[in-house]
Amino acid sequence: MWQQILDIWKSQFLHYGTESIGYLVAGICFSLFYARGTQQRRFHLLGRGCRLLAYGGFIMIILPALKLMNPQFEIPEKNYHILISLVISVATAFLWSSLFVQNLSKKHVWGLVIGLSFIQSLVFIPLAYLFPNLNLEYYLLAFAWLIMGIQFHSLQTAGKASLFNMVGDCLILLCLLYLLRLWHLIPVSGMLPTILFGLLSVAIILAQLRFMQVNCANLDEQLDFEKKRRTLFWDIAPFPILVSKLLDDTILYINPVARDVLKISPEDISSFRLTDYFADSGKRNELVEKVRASHILDSFEVEMRSPRSGENLWLDLSARVVELDGELALYINLHNVTEQKQTEEKLFQQASTDTLTGLYNRRQFETMVGQAIASAKRYQTPYCVMMSDIDHFKAVNDTYGHESGDIVLKEVANLMKKTFRSSDIIGRFGGEEFIVFFTNTNIDGAKVAAENFRQAVEQTPIIAEGRPIQVTISLGLTDSQNHDLMLLTKEADVALYYSKEHGRNQLTVYTSELLNQGTQNQ
Ligand code: GH3
Ligand code: MG
Ligand code: MG
Repeated sequence: MWQQILDIWKSQFLHYGTESIGYLVAGICFSLFYARGTQQRRFHLLGRGCRLLAYGGFIMIILPALKLMNPQFEIPEKNYHILISLVISVATAFLWSSLFVQNLSKKHVWGLVIGLSFIQSLVFIPLAYLFPNLNLEYYLLAFAWLIMGIQFHSLQTAGKASLFNMVGDCLILLCLLYLLRLWHLIPVSGMLPTILFGLLSVAIILAQLRFMQVNCANLDEQLDFEKKRRTLFWDIAPFPILVSKLLDDTILYINPVARDVLKISPEDISSFRLTDYFADSGKRNELVEKVRASHILDSFEVEMRSPRSGENLWLDLSARVVELDGELALYINLHNVTEQKQTEEKLFQQASTDTLTGLYNRRQFETMVGQAIASAKRYQTPYCVMMSDIDHFKAVNDTYGHESGDIVLKEVANLMKKTFRSSDIIGRFGGEEFIVFFTNTNIDGAKVAAENFRQAVEQTPIIAEGRPIQVTISLGLTDSQNHDLMLLTKEADVALYYSKEHGRNQLTVYTSELLNQGTQNQ
């Protein structure tokens, strides 16, 4: 019985089977080579074609094997030819397309593959059915070997590749062998092509290894070259560039223009991280969050700092997330806007403060107090308003002159800045009248602050043009719970008026009785 099976195997399998194994192994080897060996699209297409040929080889093995398992199983010659024709038509369509793929878009390549598969199937399947003895599909296959042979010869460009030439020659030889066999010039035997397939498979594996080796060396060289070229472009760029790792803030590169802006030396690049360049590290987080979200960020104005000199700078940043040497990096363009910012600040200063005393002018005071009152309302915190007026200031001007009067005004303003907290808002309302808004302060606290100020003025002789001038001030204070600055000012003014009427150099806290009294006096 074993002898019988062996006989069937020999008769059926030696004819097609060993050659089929050759197809399968060589197809798989080629397909692996083409898929992994290169990034070029034509080789991917060749790889796909080879894989299909391997499937063809698989069918050629399966069919005799089925016959082995069941001797009654007849492989209809015509169906066999049709099936193989279909596989070869599609596989060779991939191989032909690989010749033209260079100048075509992806869509067009697929169109070409599908079109060619369709046309070849349309021609060869009916022919295989009608004239199975002509073995037309094998002509197709012969040309497939030829294409692959040519492609292998073209691989020479990848490096010293005598091995590729050898594979190419083998493939061309295979094409010749097929043609000779088809024309009955050599006997139809599976053995010769099978040996050739075996040799091819070994050669292709060796070629694969060699190719990968050459490719890796090329790739390293190319990467190195790309890096150098990139750095050269960035080095000569007329605008400041900073590149850091997105993951951990390591600085990868800062070009010379950016080094000038940030006032650092080339050695400093590796000494600091991106965070060190921000005046406020929260802003660095904000930048990274924004750029992570959209990968693009323009016009991010931020105060930065030279980590070497500690000098602060205003910069307008544009940032992009880029892939650099296999890692995500932050590419930042810096635009120095420090001067612009300083001019803006100066203009704002000029528009919002009084030139003589440096205190807020009335308009700025009202804007800031408006915001402070809104915030106090929201957080339910107390606040007070104080009006101040220098006593007999006309007399100071008359006695010492207007310039000395100015010096007195300046000094009183300085005393205010020194006495009150930085969170309090101080304004000059005009002439020698000052106003203070005490934030988060109840009437008791404000009374202490106001009294301290009154005493400080009283006890500090002001030296103007070499002469000491002693002045006093009258104060009016209110903590009224209504939220209107106009009313508050009016109430503080009423209290101030009371201080003036009752001997000056004193503080009066507003009560509604004062208002009635004031009305009666008028
Ligand atoms: P009172 O105690 O009632 O306040 O008497 P007073 O003389 O201070 O009266 P009032 O507050 O009405 O006087 C304002 C004077 O302040 C008028 C003006 O000559 C003077 N003054 C206003 N602005 C300036 C300024 O910018 N510089 C100088 N030197 N004097 C100013
Ligand atoms: Mg006055
Ligand atoms: Mg006065």
